[in-house]
Amino acid sequence: MGKITDDDRKRMERCCCKQCGGKLSMKVVVYDPYGGHDVEMFCDKCHKIEYGTEKEVYHLATRFIDEFQFNYFLDMAEDERSERLNTAKICEVISWVLNELGLIDDNGVIKNKVPEF
Ligand SMILES: [Zn+2]
Repeated sequence: MGKITDDDRKRMERCCCKQCGGKLSMKVVVYDPYGGHDVEMFCDKCHKIEYGTEKEVYHLATRFIDEFQFNYFLDMAEDERSERLNTAKICEVISWVLNELGLIDDNGVIKNKVPEF
């Protein structure tokens, strides 16, 4: 059985789902009928295993999508689901940029370097 570490706990408290912005919880996920299972971070609203994103990143991603009418999934119908997937995609992009710039670490966004939102 996988173990939830203190860092995971902190991450769950600090972060949110990168699709819907919802709260993360712990869930025992069963992988096979022989009892293979693991504890994972989970979004109850999306019903999926979700490692999450920093709340600041989610906030910026939703603004980015509104301001640029961003749509990565051109083959999909534009509905709530495509909006959630686009949000998750932009969260990944923003996290990548912050990471490359050294503005994010295991404790989240490094606050004294970026403006508050
Ligand atoms: Zn979610």
